[in-house]
Amino acid sequence: RLAKYRQTSVSLKATLDTGLGLLLPQKECALGLTSRQRTLIQIASFLKRELPVRLARRVLELKSGPEGIGSMPAVIRVREWYEQSFEDIRRARVPVDLETEAEFHRLLMKIYDRHAPTLVTMARGVHELRQALTQKNLVRSASAGGEGEGVDFGELTELHTFLDKFYMSRIGIRILIGQYLELKKEEQEPGYVGLIYQHTNPAEITQQAVEDAKYLCERAHGDSPEVVLHGRSDLVFTYIPAHLYYCMFELIKNSLRAVAEHHGVHNAMPPIKVIIADGENNEDVVIKISDEGGGIRRTHMPRIWSYLFTTATPAFGSDASVFSSTGDHGTDTPLAGLGYGLPISRSYARYFGGDLNIMSMEGYGTDAFLHLSRLGNKDEPLP
Ligand code: ATP
Ligand code: MG
Repeated sequence: RLAKYRQTSVSLKATLDTGLGLLLPQKECALGLTSRQRTLIQIASFLKRELPVRLARRVLELKSGPEGIGSMPAVIRVREWYEQSFEDIRRARVPVDLETEAEFHRLLMKIYDRHAPTLVTMARGVHELRQALTQKNLVRSASAGGEGEGVDFGELTELHTFLDKFYMSRIGIRILIGQYLELKKEEQEPGYVGLIYQHTNPAEITQQAVEDAKYLCERAHGDSPEVVLHGRSDLVFTYIPAHLYYCMFELIKNSLRAVAEHHGVHNAMPPIKVIIADGENNEDVVIKISDEGGGIRRTHMPRIWSYLFTTATPAFGSDASVFSSTGDHGTDTPLAGLGYGLPISRSYARYFGGDLNIMSMEGYGTDAFLHLSRLGNKDEPLP
């Protein structure tokens, strides 16, 4: 029944403004509470109302999803987490004072952890579905790699729309809960308002992502191409650093892999260029990741946004242990292999009104353009 209620859309700017209230000098308010405590109670009670609506919608969709995805064991597991969290929140006491708010906070910490493995578990479910469909000969053979003549998951449009919606909604739920959990911490580094950082520096985040991605590339191929940074390394803007890191990490992994495979690590490998665009008054912050990794075939272009399209050895093979880790990036993360890097990165960018575009020149290389909305005052896209 709750699934029919409207979800309340929240923008990056609104999220920031609410959180900023907590940084103001704290006044005594009614009932002996400080204004900080009162704001946290308000956020908690908003979540108590909002989360069940969002969770209920996902439960219904997970039940009725296209192609029978809802009956895959891993998808049922994910749905059970949603059902459990829905019930936990419905049963919880309304956060109206310090005690009930503290109780609600503990519950949300538990729920946040419960859902951490959602991405990989859903990926497993999609993999189960592909195997089921292959067995029924509804899609072509299970090998998705090589020349991409295998299952054309890209053609299952409904399934992709469903997954896009599901992951987009997950981003929203995790921001809502994550923001509250962060704000609740007494000590936040200056510039941070919950998950949001007012001095997010794309160059710094790129450096981190490069370091981590190169480590994976060296492990997989024995060596790694270099990555050089151009443009506005001093640029800072208001954003969620974790989202930017995710996108940069995924895009750089893809480029490293393409260059390493196209040129071979025993030959000279042309460096990957990361360019951060100029312009203090630009609408977007734009980052281009440019490689000479041989590009992508034109017929593959629509499929790169598809979940489970990968030209890497599919990660759910005999060695599916890679996915037993609980985080989104376990220590066993492969350099490539799920087919999720691009579609999920695009969802993160779109979430706050940005976008991700890929241009390829077959035989030469690929350019990825990551557009990040600078103002972030666009409302959440609510599936
Ligand atoms: P993972 O989920 O681990 O990222 P993946 O890298 O295969 O697996 P995506 O990042 O979504 O998944 O990329 C999908 C496919 O697009 C890749 O398998 C590869 O074939 C192609 N691709 C992506 N980026 C590049 C690139 N820079 N150069 C060449 N091909 C690319
Ligand atoms: Mg990838």
